[in-house]
Amino acid sequence: MTVEEILSKLVSFPVLGGESNLSIIHWIQEYIESHGVKTTLVPNPEGTKASLHCRIGPAVDGGVILSGHTDVVPVEGQDWTTDPFTLTDKGDGLLYGRGSCDMKGFVACCLAALPDMTRANLTKPIYFAFSYDEEIGCLAAPELARAIKSHYTETPRFAIIGEPTMMVPTVGQKGICIFQTKVTGSQGHSSRIKQEVSAIHEAMRLILWLESKMDGLIASGSVDDRFTPNHTSIHIGNISGGLAPNIIAQECVFNWDVRTIPSETPQQILKEFEEYCRQREAELKQRFAGFRISTTNKHPAVPGLDTRSNQAIVALVKELAANETTDAVSYAAEAGQFAEVGFEAMICGPGDIAQAHRADEFIAKEQLALGVEFMNRLIKKFSE
Ligand SMILES: [Zn+2]
Repeated sequence: MTVEEILSKLVSFPVLGGESNLSIIHWIQEYIESHGVKTTLVPNPEGTKASLHCRIGPAVDGGVILSGHTDVVPVEGQDWTTDPFTLTDKGDGLLYGRGSCDMKGFVACCLAALPDMTRANLTKPIYFAFSYDEEIGCLAAPELARAIKSHYTETPRFAIIGEPTMMVPTVGQKGICIFQTKVTGSQGHSSRIKQEVSAIHEAMRLILWLESKMDGLIASGSVDDRFTPNHTSIHIGNISGGLAPNIIAQECVFNWDVRTIPSETPQQILKEFEEYCRQREAELKQRFAGFRISTTNKHPAVPGLDTRSNQAIVALVKELAANETTDAVSYAAEAGQFAEVGFEAMICGPGDIAQAHRADEFIAKEQLALGVEFMNRLIKKFSE
């Protein structure tokens, strides 16, 4: 099958993040095994989803993992002009379809190169690692990375995550964490604002604390110019609470995200925030004993990626991509998770992240061809 035929097949599986991906993973498994390569599935506890890994080439140290996710984001509420789950060629050099860019394009490049990989006399192994539930928080990658590390007797050295970077070798990625904070105050007539505790008024104080925490980090020079923006961002995305203008709010809930540069962690910010919350509680419990502030993690922390230019993977990816520049991205991806398990990791894949997650998502045929070239150079490099 050509890379376009494979991509067309992959796009036809409408597997969203959070849903069972068995349909697409079983198709990929059959395809790989039909080329004589043994695969291993890493299922979730319920058996409704699975990641897949396999090795092509000899069981020796120093191999490279090619990693992609099989799920996509929803299309509901988006104004598509084509069927999102039918790869559509309008003749403009672009292939339209949900996941064409993020990131079934890269997975298609891996699979299209598989016959050549099996025929080549590889001296170093190439692994495929395909996950699920990436789009709802990179949930499956840590287990997949650990499974690869423990399954094989040899140790792979590198992991290349094929998120769309226009084939630019990418060494950095921000970490992300999502929190929900719930403030419980006391209800009452609005005239009693000095006797009761308004959950909204207190939530507002917490939000301003978070904003000034972010500004304080920037002012202290905690920046990393590889990223745009170059600082850790803290953002409150939605808030709800209260009943009416003349009722003191008993409850207020807000959701916020922290996107950290590699030198900072969301845990440190959360720790300081919690200290401030305990101060506010101690003060306000004197007025209303039931006053409470609780913060829960709504999304496991996805670590950032901070690959240094002297690491061997940087030279490798630059050579495979035929691109001497490096970049950093501000979106979350699975690369930091592979790095945490001990693989040298980078992000490099076909397509533009600007096309991801939107109506009429597409990948340029030219980008897909660059992805195929990347695979060809890898095969050559690893059979030397
Ligand atoms: Zn993606």
